[in-house]
Amino acid sequence: MSDKNFKFDALVIGGGIAGLQSAIDLADQDFKVVIVEKNPSIGGNMIRLSKVFPTLDCASCITTPKMAEAAHHPNITILTYSEVVGLIHTNGHYVAQVLKKPRFVDEDKCIGCRQCELNCPVMVPDPEQGNFVAKKAISIPFSNAIPQIAYLDPDWCMLCGKCAKICPKEAINYFQEPINLNIEAKAVIVATGFKLTTIEDKRQYGQGKIENVITSLQMERLLAPHGPYNRVLRPSDGKEPESIAFIQCAGSRDKSMGLEYCSRICCMYSIKQAMLLSGALPLADLTIYYMDIRAFGKGYEQFYQNAKAMGIEFVKAKVAYLTQGESQGVTVHYEDQQTGERMQRDHDLVVLALGVIPEFIENDKFADISCATDKFINVLNPNIDPTLLGKEGIYGAGCSVGPKDIVDSISEAGNAAMQASIYLNNIK
Ligand SMILES: Cc1cc2nc3c(=O)[nH]c(=O)nc-3n(C[C@H](O)[C@H](O)[C@H](O)COP(=O)(O)OP(=O)(O)OC[C@H]3O[C@@H](n4cnc5c(N)ncnc54)[C@H](O)[C@@H]3O)c2cc1C
Ligand code: SF4
Ligand code: SF4
Repeated sequence: MSDKNFKFDALVIGGGIAGLQSAIDLADQDFKVVIVEKNPSIGGNMIRLSKVFPTLDCASCITTPKMAEAAHHPNITILTYSEVVGLIHTNGHYVAQVLKKPRFVDEDKCIGCRQCELNCPVMVPDPEQGNFVAKKAISIPFSNAIPQIAYLDPDWCMLCGKCAKICPKEAINYFQEPINLNIEAKAVIVATGFKLTTIEDKRQYGQGKIENVITSLQMERLLAPHGPYNRVLRPSDGKEPESIAFIQCAGSRDKSMGLEYCSRICCMYSIKQAMLLSGALPLADLTIYYMDIRAFGKGYEQFYQNAKAMGIEFVKAKVAYLTQGESQGVTVHYEDQQTGERMQRDHDLVVLALGVIPEFIENDKFADISCATDKFINVLNPNIDPTLLGKEGIYGAGCSVGPKDIVDSISEAGNAAMQASIYLNNIK
């Protein structure tokens, strides 16, 4: 491993929609910004979505131009496949320790021609497609990834040498090593985002052992224009589902999961997914099992009312548990909160609205970042400013500080950039 040092005005940790927006806003004010993203492409969770509530605009039509704007901005440097693993505040500036993971592909040589991918004989599950289909052991992460540079997964590669032989740029390097970088910046924006709890965490919902119980992010991929099957099919047997159920709060507002808060976005995205399904599968029965519907944003209540008018069924119930039904279906066992009766119903496919949890975990290597009791990054006073972390020159934005939708993530990112800009101008 070798060490390298770089200096910027601002460091943005995370290349999701919040990080991209903060970086663009700061770069437009002539500050030199570096975005560090741990995945092989920028775009975060939003690039994996189908369409977005409440407008039903195509998600990648909004995300891709932002990714391209950041990538082409003369004041922005982007490091992908690079993780910020530590951050210290010393002598009035921040120093981030960054681990640049080996792609086993020379970034300066690769032209994104995909010849390596086409010729690689090893198929591996594709996380960008919800693991429904396979990709190659060496690949460009997805069609509109930025950068368009291949990366090789050493856990699956069998070192057959075919990619190195076919690559027209001699870009494959099986001996690439991780690199430790030190990035110095006067200001930092933490936009590390979120992940979902896993199906395995939820004993009552089968822990992944019941066929055709999928996550909400997997449903986003089934609905996406360039999804795994190009249409909505049931994963176990390729059947077009005739009855689809959504289970709300399948992780959130649940003491047994240690997650007592509302994840805020799930009601709206499940309603959105049900609406999109009523277009994709007009004959399918669509049911949402919910405890409360929290349609909190501008235009959201209308969105909910529209879904009811479209014939989507809303059942006020706490789902107790799921079992494998007949013909690879799923049986939902629930207590109807209107009648108090214990009921059960069969569906072809069940989608879990899992809990939203932070990607960032509090630890000694990030001494200036503390987390609140919900484990999201602590803000000084959300009523004064939801981006101030209480230390000079460091700000939070997007889902790193709490679950939120895209509208709020973007406006918070703009606010964090404004705070960072004021700080940078003051210390000049
Ligand atoms: C199923 C589903 C559907 C949704 N649908 C909608 C919708 O229709 N409309 C809507 O408004 N919202 C929707 N959302 C919410 C939306 O996805 C979020 O609001 C948005 O993605 C938050 O963006 P972010 O940048 O804060 O976080 P993220 O998108 O999570 O980005 C954070 C980035 O930081 C990177 N990162 C984390 N730690 C590090 C580190 N240490 N070093 C370097 N990089 C790091 C991560 O790899 C990631 O790329 C949906 C969410 C889900 C789960
Ligand atoms: S060396 Fe590895 S990545 Fe390259 S073609 Fe062979 S299996 Fe695929
Ligand atoms: S590594 Fe070589 S073959 Fe693969 S995409 Fe890059 S230039 Fe093409």
